[in-house]
Amino acid sequence: NTNEMKIIFDSRPENEGLARVAAAAFCTQLNPTLEEVADLKTAVSEAVTNCIIHAYEGQVQKIEIFCRREGQKLWVDVIDKGVGIRDVAKAMEPLFTTKPEKDRSGMGFTFMEAFMDEVTVESQVGYGTVVHMKK
Ligand code: ATP
Ligand code: MG
Repeated sequence: NTNEMKIIFDSRPENEGLARVAAAAFCTQLNPTLEEVADLKTAVSEAVTNCIIHAYEGQVQKIEIFCRREGQKLWVDVIDKGVGIRDVAKAMEPLFTTKPEKDRSGMGFTFMEAFMDEVTVESQVGYGTVVHMKK
């Protein structure tokens, strides 16, 4: 009993809402609570914002979201082919940001970890990043 969805869209800020809603719509098959849907939307929107701001640094390229349901479990991957992250462990620390001058608070990964059950990040400098989340 599985189901999968993949969407690919431009790294434009106006597509952040699209990404949130698509992930939320996909997860309704798990009969989630309103809180669970809100958590998923927040996590997806943090990951997508990171692709737009950090991975592509404002250049318009493609972001991919892959959702998979297996029974009552949900996995969401947010994938970019941007600059990558040199030190993932450091990047995931609360308050760590490489863009303090742009009013970033360094809390994106912390929110993702708080609102999802599991967050793992695979990244290669110059090739891109996969944020893998489970709920
Ligand atoms: P906030 O999310 O609070 O606005 P932030 O984006 O800097 O601030 P995080 O989302 O926690 O904080 O990310 C921490 C750091 O990890 C970023 O500053 C950036 O250097 C790096 N980073 C995160 N996602 C990506 C990505 N997809 N590609 C490249 N670097 C990333
Ligand atoms: Mg962020």
